[in-house]
Amino acid sequence: MRSPVTQIADLIRESDHFLVASHANPDGDAIGSTAALGHIFAALGKDFALYNTTGLPHQFDWLPLPGPLHTTMTGVESDWTFVLDCGAESRVGPELQQLMGSRAIANVDHHLGNPNFGRFNWVDDNYPAVAAMIADLADELCVPLTGHLAEAIYLGIVTDTGYFTFDNTTPRVMELASRLIRLGLQPGVVNAKIRNQWSVSRFRLWGESFATTEMFFGGKVAVAYVTRDMMARTGTDTEDCEEIVNFLRRLRGTRAAAILREEPDGAYKFSLRSAGHDNVQAVAAAFGGGGHRNAAGGTIVDSLESAKSHLVKALGEGLGLV
Ligand code: 5GP
Ligand code: MN
Repeated sequence: MRSPVTQIADLIRESDHFLVASHANPDGDAIGSTAALGHIFAALGKDFALYNTTGLPHQFDWLPLPGPLHTTMTGVESDWTFVLDCGAESRVGPELQQLMGSRAIANVDHHLGNPNFGRFNWVDDNYPAVAAMIADLADELCVPLTGHLAEAIYLGIVTDTGYFTFDNTTPRVMELASRLIRLGLQPGVVNAKIRNQWSVSRFRLWGESFATTEMFFGGKVAVAYVTRDMMARTGTDTEDCEEIVNFLRRLRGTRAAAILREEPDGAYKFSLRSAGHDNVQAVAAAFGGGGHRNAAGGTIVDSLESAKSHLVKALGEGLGLV
């Protein structure tokens, strides 16, 4: 049996028109792997388009993309549509999801429980980031890991490993980072572009959100929230809420952290974080969400107080704290 990466390289060699898509509200791995695969297609002289239903978040303005990032599928044709970093079909947003039945989908992902929705599926949760999968694909296709391609891959791997601090920081991903640096990537310069992008509005929102923090189960679970009012007051939006939850993990003694973010329709999007064997993916899945063992999310349609108490109860049970 040939490995998925050699099969996908063949599929790329044999076709000429590609679409590259990832999940709505893309994080560093989603947008980094989208850009990286586009750079590979550009290097191979292939025709390609990039798509994301919610577009490019401001914090990634600096990232050199190999072409425009489309936010509508109108007029975008392809032999193969690559769907990156999407643990479920719905993550691409409604417009592309509706077209998925009629398109050849290559599903490249690293989420637990990905249901293999593509015609071709390369799903491997041993990879810490989809960007690391794209790096292996570049090697297979003999595209050098330099320049803008290297920056895009680096963005994906540092953000999904929490800057090489999470348990998914494997020797292999450190070796990949090491190779990128040997090939000319400047980690100080690129990390500054990735991290030093905050507005003072975001700072103020984080202050307000931190102030909502509550501790449960003797300090083992930390929960905070962000409402639409808080965002309106500080002049911020959804992307400014990214990563607040990672900072709740800094509280001494916490095993799990959760943040609830109010959506425009009043529902609450939640993000969960844990470490080691504490499985928050299973907790998220109980609410119809998903993700990884130590980073997962989903949506609860309920009032803030009720959503919070359901989530706290599920975390307590899921982690054996009750
Ligand atoms: P975050 O909390 O940063 O939004 O997401 C953490 C992880 O959980 C990511 O890998 C993301 O793909 C996954 N995730 C977040 N929300 C959802 C959701 O609603 N459904 C599924 N299936 N996965 C989610
Ligand atoms: Mn990812």
